[in-house]
Amino acid sequence: MQLAHPGLKDPEYYVAGLPRDWVSQRYGLPPEQIAKLGSAENPHGPSPLAVAAVTAALDRLHLYPSWTAEPLREKLAATYGYQPEQFIVGAGETEVIACIIRAFAEVGGKVAMPRPCFPLYHLFAEAEGRRPIMVDTVDMALDVDAYVAAITADTRVVFITNPHSPSGTWISEADARRIVEAAPQALVVLDEAYVHYSQTPGYLHLVAEYPNLIVLRTFSKAFGLAGLRIGFGVADRPIIDPLLAVKPTWNMGQLQIAGGVAALDDSDHIDRTVATIVDSRDYIISRLADLDRFRMIPGSRANFFLIEVLDPDTDSTAVFEGLLERGVIVKDGAVSFRGLADRHLRVDVGHRAHMDRLVDALADLP
Ligand SMILES: *Cc1c(COP(=O)(O)O)cnc(C)c1O
Repeated sequence: MQLAHPGLKDPEYYVAGLPRDWVSQRYGLPPEQIAKLGSAENPHGPSPLAVAAVTAALDRLHLYPSWTAEPLREKLAATYGYQPEQFIVGAGETEVIACIIRAFAEVGGKVAMPRPCFPLYHLFAEAEGRRPIMVDTVDMALDVDAYVAAITADTRVVFITNPHSPSGTWISEADARRIVEAAPQALVVLDEAYVHYSQTPGYLHLVAEYPNLIVLRTFSKAFGLAGLRIGFGVADRPIIDPLLAVKPTWNMGQLQIAGGVAALDDSDHIDRTVATIVDSRDYIISRLADLDRFRMIPGSRANFFLIEVLDPDTDSTAVFEGLLERGVIVKDGAVSFRGLADRHLRVDVGHRAHMDRLVDALADLP
């Protein structure tokens, strides 16, 4: 018996990066020896200011939080220079993405996205009975001409990810503007989850110019708070107000609000994290150039990159398993990203020692 709507007949779920403990038990390796390079987490851990603020907020757990997370909206407004009412805050950016699809595309409505892309765009669209329109990338980078051409008058939501996931590639401000201007009747969602690692301020300033643009960011990456669940969107009020109506009312708890407010002041943590990622990214580019069975997809400005398996006698799943046995967790493109076949793996940039573990393990594969 199927009581759920037809879009949920064979539901597909997100494939997360593997946890350290699982790999440790299955392969008999000490957890501290495992290089966890599959979930784009912060190698320096959580923002210390956020940890202190979360601890101090524990005595407020009996109180309902502000349903709009008002203290966090005010802090975001002071930090990024818009009005508090122009922000929507969610339990991770993921929740904001789900709310956008629900609020801006009707059942059967078209939701455009690159292929491959962050899987939650199409997973949520399909779970809500909306229709993903996937536009192929070229060498894993957004094909702006093809993307603009695919936007039609009945497209409701258009996703852009910059830096892109899974490749980390970058689009220019001119190209971002072209896409926003090509879709005046749609909401363009610019997902800047990894913007810190690009060492640019990103394109948040475009919100002041375009009434059909929302920019999304997360506290899960550079702030190191993936386990706390905080993300936000900024746009004009006619975009934000419907989102407030569809979001689960008290979606942000006291700890998330307190942690988010404090993290926004933790520029030391951000600076340290970005410095490590940028250093290790340059390092792994040069080290991978020495291997001839693998190639890095060039141009990543994120804290991860794609490896292409050049050796025709193996595939991404065999490489994934071989790396796990050697204590290195990455993501197998074949199961993690729609539109990737069996030639790619997504690998995080982390500490240099973990980059060495990765290269040694790749070189050791049969
Ligand atoms: C990690 C990530 C997010 C953020 O997810 P959260 O729900 O905030 O943890 C958003 N978009 C992309 C492309 C990501 O990779």
